[in-house]
Amino acid sequence: MKCGIIGAGLSALTCAGELSTAGHDVVLFDKGRGPGGRMSTRHMQTRFGDVGIDHGAPCFDAVGPDFRAAVAVWRRDGLVAPWPAGGPQAWLGIPDMASLIARLAALHDVTWRTFVNGIMRGARGDWHVSSDRSLHGPFDAVVTAVPPEQAVPFLALHDLEMARTASAAPSRACWAGLFVFERALPAASLVLRDAGPIALAVCNRAKPLRTKPESWLVHANSEWSGSRLERKSEDIAPLLLSALQAALGLPVLPAHEATAHQWRYASSAGIGRAALWNADLKLGACGDWLTGPHAECAWTSGRALGRLVNSTFGGVSVLPEKDGLCVL
Ligand SMILES: Cc1cc2nc3c(=O)[nH]c(=O)nc-3n(C[C@H](O)[C@H](O)[C@H](O)COP(=O)(O)OP(=O)(O)OC[C@H]3O[C@@H](n4cnc5c(N)ncnc54)[C@H](O)[C@@H]3O)c2cc1C
Repeated sequence: MKCGIIGAGLSALTCAGELSTAGHDVVLFDKGRGPGGRMSTRHMQTRFGDVGIDHGAPCFDAVGPDFRAAVAVWRRDGLVAPWPAGGPQAWLGIPDMASLIARLAALHDVTWRTFVNGIMRGARGDWHVSSDRSLHGPFDAVVTAVPPEQAVPFLALHDLEMARTASAAPSRACWAGLFVFERALPAASLVLRDAGPIALAVCNRAKPLRTKPESWLVHANSEWSGSRLERKSEDIAPLLLSALQAALGLPVLPAHEATAHQWRYASSAGIGRAALWNADLKLGACGDWLTGPHAECAWTSGRALGRLVNSTFGGVSVLPEKDGLCVL
């Protein structure tokens, strides 16, 4: 069995791991210039050298026993480290968040910088994936592992019910501010939550194995971000810098580098499903949006979908299916 996966974030790579462990071939396509998805690290060239800031998920919690077991293996293999400053269950990719995704992606056939613009089903039920580069396939199954708004166009032409389900999980946006300072800020706390427009601010330099100099990540809350969707990043960066300095109670300090990134589809509340799988069409969808706005949800969803696909094609299968959809 050969499966094409659209996306190469954590959910896609977890699904790919389940499929390849069961002996299937997997090919992943991702539009990103490199690994990370929403667990990316932005590198900036500054006069202090290269500075990498985790500008998507700054860390992730491992709560459930299965995910904790997976994280324990990543820790053994040197992919992650605990981060008590982020919370009692918080973990970091090392040396940065994107490295975790890069190491998982290295186990698979991933084509980066490839924007998928369609999926087509042939007369024999075989699938083809169309991208800005080429037509790929044939595949026996196709999986979307992208945020819901990006999955709907793929699903709608083939399974209206799946597309409706994805439409019921709208994403919220998040503006991220990335700042590099010449000197360490005299901050009392290196992690701040819920201060004015700020949902979370993290001193990136304070994380283990991160490069100096002083760098901060600011995530604006969804209300603030959602009401500024059309603003330009050069307008947003100074607003988030002022918000950071107000939250830290510091006088306005010039940042050596100040930029902003919009995560248009940052998070979705979840719809109480683990994964979607149409066993007749051999079409599936996974991603954090099915369960909740956390990396653990992405991992859980990717694993659930991999097991559902395996149950159709032969391989490990443990999850129950009802009407072609995973019931968890
Ligand atoms: C601002 C922010 C803060 C967060 N904070 C936390 C946190 O504190 N704790 C936590 O646990 N989680 C956090 N998360 C959530 C966590 O990052 C996600 O749950 C997880 O990364 C989702 O993985 P995924 O595989 O479902 O999706 P993604 O990581 O989004 O992967 C989808 C991939 O699909 C690719 N793609 C999309 N469309 C196409 C296309 N048409 N063609 C080809 N490729 C495509 C994208 O490039 C991307 O790489 C945060 C996320 C954001 C954005």
